[in-house]
Amino acid sequence: MENTSQKKTAVIAGAGPAGLTAALELLRHTNIHPVILEKDEVVGGISRTVRYHGNRMDIGGHRFFSKSPEVLRWWDGLMPLQRPEGPDPEKEDRVMLRRPRISRIYFLRKFFDYPITMKKETFSGLGLRRVLHAGFGYLWSCIHRLPETSLENFYINRFGRPLYRMFFEAYTEKVWGIHPSKLGADWGSQRVKGLSVSAVLRDMLSKALGRKDRDGAHVETSLIEEFIYPKYGPGQLWETAAEEIMSLGGEILMESEIVKVKVERGEVKSVSAKDKDGNLTEIHCDYFLSSMPVKDLITCIEGTEIPVEVREVAAKLPYRDFITAGLCVNKLKIGRIQDTWIYIQERDVKLGRLQIFNNWSPYLVKDCEETLWLGLEYFCSEGDELWQMSDDDFIHLAEKELIQIGLIDEGCVLDACRVKVKKAYPAYFGSYYSLNTVKTFLDTIPNLFCIGRNGQHRYNNMDHSMLTAMECVRIIQSGNLTDKDAMWNVNTEEEYHETKKS
Ligand SMILES: Cc1cc2nc3c(=O)[nH]c(=O)nc-3n(C[C@H](O)[C@H](O)[C@H](O)COP(=O)(O)OP(=O)(O)OC[C@H]3O[C@@H](n4cnc5c(N)ncnc54)[C@H](O)[C@@H]3O)c2cc1C
Repeated sequence: MENTSQKKTAVIAGAGPAGLTAALELLRHTNIHPVILEKDEVVGGISRTVRYHGNRMDIGGHRFFSKSPEVLRWWDGLMPLQRPEGPDPEKEDRVMLRRPRISRIYFLRKFFDYPITMKKETFSGLGLRRVLHAGFGYLWSCIHRLPETSLENFYINRFGRPLYRMFFEAYTEKVWGIHPSKLGADWGSQRVKGLSVSAVLRDMLSKALGRKDRDGAHVETSLIEEFIYPKYGPGQLWETAAEEIMSLGGEILMESEIVKVKVERGEVKSVSAKDKDGNLTEIHCDYFLSSMPVKDLITCIEGTEIPVEVREVAAKLPYRDFITAGLCVNKLKIGRIQDTWIYIQERDVKLGRLQIFNNWSPYLVKDCEETLWLGLEYFCSEGDELWQMSDDDFIHLAEKELIQIGLIDEGCVLDACRVKVKKAYPAYFGSYYSLNTVKTFLDTIPNLFCIGRNGQHRYNNMDHSMLTAMECVRIIQSGNLTDKDAMWNVNTEEEYHETKKS
């Protein structure tokens, strides 16, 4: 093994997709020794797989989808995609499955296609009065455009007010805890850009004419119908990346929470992490790549003056937290269904989305024939009523809500668990609009790089996190550490957008 003491060292905060990608790219393309510090006990960050009594849970339901050939090649290099001539998932573990995307909306105790389609079942499900109201509302929105000053107006312009009220208003408030009239329109333009009644009509027409675009290049992302998925859930890909990093000589220190980033003469000189027993370790470094939340990073920096405004903006950056209840049930009241996930639009429950893990990958479920392994997703804020509930009370609530909306019968839950995720969503309101102040300050430290979702406070997907890490490594390779625009601007000019409503 090479003598790492002669090499430069990059300390990386976080073993999520961004941190792991950065480490592997450094090992593949440079002579820099990466040391990842991860506060959790498993790798994968939000994209990890949680194991519970023989079942595996994806906290969120992570579709692997990207328009970047570089990202697709990277995934394929670690875990080959299921192909007719490729690995057989029955025999091999390291394989990416091709999965059909089937997701519907549950509203008025009925199922509707997501995105809504103009078919008989939709009209009969909504009823004539609602359909006419929605139709006139849409036509009115086409002639009476609202200024796009809020997310509410963004939706109304694309769907009309009645459809917005039915399908977006309550759900968006569940996700963000804030009414859409108080949220910025940029959330909509980033997440559901291009999706509208006219996009749905175009998609239907092109299918009718047989012009379906398999690679999705001209299909709005919200309409994409197939994605790839690791056999054992998203964490499997990241566990494989971690193994590769260690086999190439990189280090990953688990249960090591970064608490101090020491700056001397304008550069990061060392990073200190606390282990689970509270012991501190200081690691000297030449580069520091941070995928930890911007808010936490600012509080860790010592040895340089941080302007008061920067501290204030960072301290007030908003996030939304997230809880998943895993419920193993013997059956659904409506029988077996094929959906990967279902948006719960019912206003009388707090439940936001329901995952059916059997349909993501049968290999996630211990007894896929006899049981259904469900993920019930709740959006919340750290410290609120949902967050404070005991595990038992929370699981009871989740079970009660599924019964209330008619999806399961009493007594059919066989086993259950709950997982809490802090800072699952970097949010776009409040001090987010002054984020540039923080970014400008961080960019004055040449060997400090902000990568990933919370690392850049960008509400984005795994591939975005990976691309920020890849750009960061390219900047380090170039030796010009003063221009980090390529890393901060990943995706913004591309045609990429996420595929879900949340
Ligand atoms: C409900 C939900 C559904 C999603 N669905 C999809 C999807 O379908 N497709 C998709 O591509 N993406 C999806 N995403 C987004 C995806 O989860 C993220 O984009 C991705 O995990 C971000 O990777 P990251 O490495 O930037 O950050 P993270 O995954 O957040 O990883 C950051 C890591 O840093 C660690 N860390 C934080 N602070 C410290 C510290 N002080 N010291 C040491 N370590 C620290 C954390 O423990 C964590 O492991 C979804 C997200 C959610 C919440």
